[in-house]
Amino acid sequence: MSLHAARLRGERAQPRIDVGRILHPRAVAVFGASDSKDKFGGRIMHFLVRHGFAGEIYPINPRRAEVLGRRAYPTIGVAPAAADVAILAVPADALVASVAAAADAGVGCCVIISTGFAEAGAAGMARQVALVEIARRTGMRLVGPNCMGLIVPHHRLALCSSVVLDTDRLRDGAIGLVSQSGALMVSIFDRAGGDGIGFRACVSLGNQADLEICDVVDYLVDETETEAICVYVEGLLNGARFRRSLAAARHAGKPVLVVKTGRTAAGVQAARSHTASLAGAFDVFEAVCRDEGAVLARDPDDMVRAAHFLTRHRKPRRGGVAILSSSGGAAGIASDRITELGLSLAALSAPTRAGLERFLLPAQAANPVDLGGRTVPEDVEIAGDVARLLFDDPDVAYGLAVLTSMPFFPQRTKLIGTAALASDKPVFVTLTPGPAADGPRQALRDVGLPYFDRFEDSVRVLALVAEHDARRGVAPAPAARPAGVPDGRVAPLAAGPLAPAEVAGLLERYGVPVARAAVRATPEAAADVADRLGFPVVLKIVSRQIVHKSDVGGVRLGLASRAAVVAAAHEMAAAVARAVPDAAIEGFVVQETVAGEAEVIVGARRDPHFGAVVLVGLGGVAVEILKDVALAAAPVDAGRARAMLDSLRVAPLFHGARGRPPLDVDAVVDVVVRVSWLAAALGPQLVDLEVNPLIVRRAGGGAVAVDGRATLNPND
Ligand code: ADP
Ligand code: MG
Repeated sequence: MSLHAARLRGERAQPRIDVGRILHPRAVAVFGASDSKDKFGGRIMHFLVRHGFAGEIYPINPRRAEVLGRRAYPTIGVAPAAADVAILAVPADALVASVAAAADAGVGCCVIISTGFAEAGAAGMARQVALVEIARRTGMRLVGPNCMGLIVPHHRLALCSSVVLDTDRLRDGAIGLVSQSGALMVSIFDRAGGDGIGFRACVSLGNQADLEICDVVDYLVDETETEAICVYVEGLLNGARFRRSLAAARHAGKPVLVVKTGRTAAGVQAARSHTASLAGAFDVFEAVCRDEGAVLARDPDDMVRAAHFLTRHRKPRRGGVAILSSSGGAAGIASDRITELGLSLAALSAPTRAGLERFLLPAQAANPVDLGGRTVPEDVEIAGDVARLLFDDPDVAYGLAVLTSMPFFPQRTKLIGTAALASDKPVFVTLTPGPAADGPRQALRDVGLPYFDRFEDSVRVLALVAEHDARRGVAPAPAARPAGVPDGRVAPLAAGPLAPAEVAGLLERYGVPVARAAVRATPEAAADVADRLGFPVVLKIVSRQIVHKSDVGGVRLGLASRAAVVAAAHEMAAAVARAVPDAAIEGFVVQETVAGEAEVIVGARRDPHFGAVVLVGLGGVAVEILKDVALAAAPVDAGRARAMLDSLRVAPLFHGARGRPPLDVDAVVDVVVRVSWLAAALGPQLVDLEVNPLIVRRAGGGAVAVDGRATLNPND
């Protein structure tokens, strides 16, 4: 049984409690409550009390009359009332009975810290199934198991056993954090707190036996005080639902930032096509996030910092980066990185430059600004004056301050920080020295501006914020069906790899231009076709066992006569038999020769979570090595297809780089659109399909598919 099987599905009793009530319980029961901070139940009690939870607390422990001065109850059944939430960190073998008792006592939700469930082999799986069964029967909800609980600062609720909660304060904020991993959640919470960043709510979900990531994301989308949502995800339970949650967040104007594991996991197995290896699960996840305006981060702390800047500065912005440094060297490094990231340096307006020249030498009074080149004597205030002028410039969307040591270091840093906050633009300050910058660090903590110790950290977070800004706004309308694309699903076809004529037939039905061709069983019959098509022709082997025909001598180009076709067919059959002795040779494709300027791959695949996706890249052997492909959920419209092409590193080639003629981009766009519709119309039948190559001519000349393959699932 898979991890996902042991979770709630289908019919279940009406849920006793909603997510809002789970995060804002009026009464909490703590199983295994004790006075000792060395025990899970002890820490949970301590943190509940220490952080001033205002609701009822029912310690459950048959061996204690009192815990932390509160009356304890031997069983949940004798607690004075049904708790909204019970938290359990009892050993796995005793857990199911405790959860059953909680359900009998009318508890709304069990937060299960214990491990030893679906993540722990068959016995664990059986235990998780038992938990799920209780939840299904009673409508009691579950968080976990194998989680770390939840933290809701404004409700003074630390329902969590982690030592990071042994602090004076739970920092409140506008960020919602949803994490599959509990350990990561508390680490993120603590690190953010050190940066002065707080949370509206943090929820860890562990095995997601009942409550899953999307339940909490959907709650946070609706919750008025939450302004940004951070998600750490290992495995999604329902891709379509996740997509809807992202769309809802976008609609509500709430940034979503995501860290997901599996970036490097081996791609799809059974790579019968380039598309399969180029459109792995993570690539598809990334494309869906991008389509829905969410931002993928690599590092959880980056994710939260970016969310902080996005919630702190909510006005939409457009423009470039202003760099402020106390070192010409650091300013130079910063300029390079900004340019490398594809961001622009802000072009300062004349008034800004004139203003800066009151303090700085003309060469320094431009972006990047080097605070070192002053016209005026050493004074403290200059840092604040310069920063204000710079950050207020209308073309500046982001500030990047790289502060090496300087005179009046703490005072000036404080002035720069204050100017940054007053500008209402995100300003990313790095303090590059070590202990010498401790004073400035404190100064920034005092004004409430998170800072960075390493320049690269600041750049990564700036890039995430800029990425969000570039994508914010309303989602594009769903793609409209283009002319010539049939309505509805493709009728069921046989499973497995399709024959060349079947692939060509499908592509033609969806309006993709396909090279004229015919399949024949014998060399002589092939030559007859060549007569009809006109020389020179192309000859290809037909065999379901052969994926890459040219690798085994199965493609011959430029055959200029009947005799050449017949000879090539005999040679080809022999070469293929040598290279792939098991291959059953079904015949030969005779195809017109298509001249063009470039070869493009257009592929599609069905992702188990997100359905059909379409892919485009420049063809040839380099495509898999360079992975220079663009991916989107299918179907796409022409605008999206064009954006996909423009996002390729080789995009300039399409528009005529280095003396080459511009290619027929419109024709490529049209094929991407049509293949995406075909992929969507194949529905669950689709494994993958690709046109490789699509031969593309100069602008206005069109594009023609000369090779295609498709593999289908059995129909059920
Ligand atoms: P495979 O991908 O199985 O090796 P293809 O049918 O893609 O076989 O052929 C390999 C290469 O031969 C193509 O990438 C293209 O460069 C060239 N080619 C194939 N068919 C034609 C054609 N009809 N006109 C011109 N070139 C072709
Ligand atoms: Mg090919």
